[in-house]
Amino acid sequence: MDQGTIRKVAGPLVVAAGLVHARMYDLVRVGEQGLMGEIIEMRGDRASIQVYEETEGLGPGMPVVSTGAPLSVELGPGMLEAVYDGVQRPLDALQATSGAFLARGVSAPGLDREKRWEFVPTVPPGARVTGGDIIGTVQENVVIEHRIMVPPALAGEIVEIAGGSYTVTDTVAQLRDDDGGMHDLTLMQTWPVRVPRPYVRKIGTGEPLVTGTRVIDTFFPIVKGGVACIPGPFGAGKTVTQHQVAKWSNAQVVIFIGCGERGNEMTDVLMEFPELTDPYSGEPLMKRTVLVANTSNMPVAAREASVYTGITMAEYFRDMGYEVVLQADSTSRWAEAMREISGRLEEMPGDEGFPAYLGTKLAAFYERAGAVECLGGSHPAGSSSLSSDSATAPVGAAGSEGPDAASAARSVREDSKEGPLRPAAPRTGSVSVVGSVSPPGGDLSEPVVQNTLRVVKVYWALQDQLAFQRHFPAIDWLTSYSLYLDRIQPHWEADVSPDFRGRRDRCMAILQRENDLAEIVRLVGIEALSAEEQILMETAKSIREDFLQQNAFRDDDQFSSLTEQDLLLKTILHFHESAVAAQQHGAALKDIFAAPVREKIARAKYATLDDLSIFSEIESDIETQLVARSGVDA
Ligand code: ADP
Repeated sequence: MDQGTIRKVAGPLVVAAGLVHARMYDLVRVGEQGLMGEIIEMRGDRASIQVYEETEGLGPGMPVVSTGAPLSVELGPGMLEAVYDGVQRPLDALQATSGAFLARGVSAPGLDREKRWEFVPTVPPGARVTGGDIIGTVQENVVIEHRIMVPPALAGEIVEIAGGSYTVTDTVAQLRDDDGGMHDLTLMQTWPVRVPRPYVRKIGTGEPLVTGTRVIDTFFPIVKGGVACIPGPFGAGKTVTQHQVAKWSNAQVVIFIGCGERGNEMTDVLMEFPELTDPYSGEPLMKRTVLVANTSNMPVAAREASVYTGITMAEYFRDMGYEVVLQADSTSRWAEAMREISGRLEEMPGDEGFPAYLGTKLAAFYERAGAVECLGGSHPAGSSSLSSDSATAPVGAAGSEGPDAASAARSVREDSKEGPLRPAAPRTGSVSVVGSVSPPGGDLSEPVVQNTLRVVKVYWALQDQLAFQRHFPAIDWLTSYSLYLDRIQPHWEADVSPDFRGRRDRCMAILQRENDLAEIVRLVGIEALSAEEQILMETAKSIREDFLQQNAFRDDDQFSSLTEQDLLLKTILHFHESAVAAQQHGAALKDIFAAPVREKIARAKYATLDDLSIFSEIESDIETQLVARSGVDA
């Protein structure tokens, strides 16, 4: 083992000399207590180390030992329901060993070593497998089946495999590679956090990640595997929005990274998330959630690591074929950690003291999102169809930073080329990322926000002004955007209605026109507008109140299916068009606006999929109250 000595300590940064064989990103143990750290700069035998625990008491001359391996996470049964710190130490295990106050230098494995899991093999002995193939399953809890995969870099023949009750480190199968080398397969694998896990290829799916929140799904939708950003002005509803997305979206696994600053910010996350109920199973949402949270007594460096720890876990569930939603809160805190470390390294500062590579790091993080064709198949043994293109497609580990991943990716590629038996239908999975930003003073022009907006495709502009007016969700329809609309449209056409996109665009245009006209109304009053414009102003109000506003705490309002969202828009627009026609045929505006059906339209959002009769009632009411009375031809 490589041993050196501390030369200098500067906050979370320690400089050590004498580490001859150490490499960038190696995990090291610092000082007598063996504090966890990671090498982030190497110059000759001098290593700059970011330490994940308080460095108080460390001094020159103390030992530093390199573990010779990069910072990695353990991936296997037991991750769900866990609450980890930024370097995957389970908080409950840490507290059990060291009391309420976390002692330093405590190590605890990410996965419980004692717990036994029931493993059910899905391939027989003799099966030929490659990296990513599923060899069996573990029912991790009532909600999620954990699929045990061959680690990405391995391929060969399963010599032995047996079901039964195992701990994560027990051998459940033996694999002989093509050179005759034997490998023990266990329920868990490890992966270096800074290296994206490989996949066959990214697939540009336009499948919507449906959240049930109307302003999101209809106006600013995100696709499965998409990337979105949400700012968090205080009290504007960021937490409620995050919880809604976590609970309701059509994804199976939720990873929440709490990258907080103040202790209480984190306590909120740790307290609130475990309280949430999964609306689909009725079980606690934690059963399909992993929480990564930096506690207040961990230094900034752990924040930096937590983002990578979280996304690596997300990729692992993606590789099993799950849809994963990852929320990182807040990426601003992460960037501040980067700035502090960069400052200690005395790097050349860029904008507002952030390192020049801020943009690159943010982009590389969001680049790990995506919908992918996973490595391996779901039924590797039984399948007989030879693969076509996908076997030779490059794996997606481009831009890997570490040697381990590079070699993993290489060997995966070579294995694929040999064209072993592949399943007929490729397995797919996705990681959707919602990163929150919390710029100081709400200043959206600062570097973290700007660099984030350059890479994300969706922006949900939460606004304190709207929250002030009790318009919830306080997502501003004028400044939010989604660049996925065109990709989603074919899915809407097939699954919702051919007219959904058209209706959405029409309503958006009405809202924008309302904004243009608002200034005139403010200056000279509503009478200055033409009759048609006055109707438009009323319709815009209806879109805002009857569609956009959605109460996350009302059982009959917190989730809207796309079908309901479309019906609502259709209804609001139907009233609008009928009103315009009625006015043209002589109906008085005050009578149109006072039509009793409007009250029904306001209640339509509470309709449930089992009983959509209110929509047909409204249709016939519009007929009798507007169309018939004004003598418009039906
Ligand atoms: P933040 O995390 O941005 O500080 P919260 O998410 O805690 O703010 O929201 C603050 C308050 O705003 C909530 O307690 C709730 O009363 C209200 N609120 C936010 N979003 C909604 C919503 N969709 N429906 C109803 N009330 C909401």
